[in-house]
Amino acid sequence: MTSPTREIEVTCPDCGHSYQDWYRPSINLSLDDFDDEYLEEATTTPCPECGVKYDVEALFA
Ligand SMILES: [Zn+2]
Repeated sequence: MTSPTREIEVTCPDCGHSYQDWYRPSINLSLDDFDDEYLEEATTTPCPECGVKYDVEALFA
């Protein structure tokens, strides 16, 4: 099952900027037909301050 979006508070490991974002903890590709762009948006978080994009799973692992 695909979980609903989750609000997260991210602290950028690069510049230390804190900001709000969202992601989907799990996505079931056999049930939900998301396109690649959405998948990328749902599993990564770009820092609005320095522009570096991080994998959300890696940040919160
Ligand atoms: Zn940053």
